[in-house]
Amino acid sequence: MPGKKIELDNAAAKIAASEPVIYGRADHNVSRENIAESALKVLYRLHKAGYQAFLVGGAVRDLILGQHPKDYDVATDATPEQVNTLFKNCRLIGRRFRLAHIHFGREIVEVATFRGHHDQAENESEGLTRDGMIVRDNVFGTLAEDAWRRDFSVNALYYNIADFTVVDYTGGMADLKDKNLRTIGDAEVRCQEDPVRMLRAIRFAAKLGFKPDADLVQAIATQGHRIEAVPPSRLFDEILKLFMSGHARSTFELLKKYNLLLQLFPATEKHLQTHAQMNDLITLACQNTDQRIADGKPVTPAFLFAFMLWGPTSTRAMEFESNNMSPIQALQEAGRAVLNQESGQISIPKRFRLPIREIWTSQARLNNRRGRRPYAMLGQARFRAAYDFLLLRCQSYAPELQSLCEWWTEFQEVSDTQKKIMCQELQRARQGQKSRRPKKKKSNQATAAATDITPDTPSDH
Ligand code: ATP
Ligand code: MG
Repeated sequence: MPGKKIELDNAAAKIAASEPVIYGRADHNVSRENIAESALKVLYRLHKAGYQAFLVGGAVRDLILGQHPKDYDVATDATPEQVNTLFKNCRLIGRRFRLAHIHFGREIVEVATFRGHHDQAENESEGLTRDGMIVRDNVFGTLAEDAWRRDFSVNALYYNIADFTVVDYTGGMADLKDKNLRTIGDAEVRCQEDPVRMLRAIRFAAKLGFKPDADLVQAIATQGHRIEAVPPSRLFDEILKLFMSGHARSTFELLKKYNLLLQLFPATEKHLQTHAQMNDLITLACQNTDQRIADGKPVTPAFLFAFMLWGPTSTRAMEFESNNMSPIQALQEAGRAVLNQESGQISIPKRFRLPIREIWTSQARLNNRRGRRPYAMLGQARFRAAYDFLLLRCQSYAPELQSLCEWWTEFQEVSDTQKKIMCQELQRARQGQKSRRPKKKKSNQATAAATDITPDTPSDH
């Protein structure tokens, strides 16, 4: 944050006049030492070629907050074609608005030409759909225009490589200091233009611990339903950013608080109203996901969707089971139905659907330990995910799964001879049970129940 005090009243007056407040090098803590070499290279080369070059967006925000930027965005007055001629490692992408991606191994620095206001398109009505969403956004502009069309004030700070100043048109510096998430312009209009901004607001509130201001809260309340109109594939990408950036737990809380869970996972939201215990499962799973990310371990979208949608899936599976389906079949059918129902909203790509359903059906398979089945289960590619999911269920809402969990924990660790003994013991216990047990009908095993974890249960399939 600036060391020297800049009069905030003065800053507010300048903002009203659309004049930027310029923070000199001594007044902010963005240091080249903390900027990735790749981003510096891009900035310097643009600057040397005579173009304006600014670091902008999340990188400036995070650097001022003393955090490590996730990626680097650069804004310039060079056109994409001009950028392309400056860098061998450049690819132009995007149809609606051309962007230059400069590749450094796996790192990408995104360079965007200043954008103009969409309402300065030749014909405003052509650029917007009937309900006000932007469909065309391809007009180049000035630095000032670029600043005003960004989403939140804290995302519209520009670090100028020419003189190492930070340029602030929208009051972002003061908002950073106050942990205030404020939409640039009229919050309702901006959320209407691009409903994804509401999800971005949740993401930044969760990541930075910032508070959405009153106008933004009000806009989310009145415009939240518009998320429905966002293309499902964009929504899928946003969900991954929301839940797989290390702040899934607070994201989940905020989505509920601002009534947006309904927009992303309607079946889950409905299910939670009558099954409060599923809240514990999702919360714990989010917490584990955050921990894995903090530890540098991989996380998969399949696991995320498996726990987010387990509530509606398991309930539906119980219904199928009471109509005499086997637990595995019931989970298969329920999984298919729930994925179809949700995917209208979020478009879960095909490559994730099979693994999601495998995690679900494996909940019944893990309870089925006859003969060589435990060995087959252990050899499956997704055993680990299935087992982790079982542990989560046990720790969150189904303590009756404890002995099943312990059995699998041990089975993985022991020698082949001991594995054999464990399976024989199960079989003996099963035989003992059979001779004691009166005949009874099959019932809801996969769910409340993948659960009767006596050594093996009669309705194992
Ligand atoms: P992160 O740390 O997650 O990368 P970010 O703020 O950099 O956060 P990006 O998605 O990388 O987010 O976008 C870069 C910048 O582009 C944002 O900071 C914001 O200024 C602008 N931006 C991105 N999406 C929108 C949008 N939907 N509407 C307006 N401006 C946007
Ligand atoms: Mg970024």
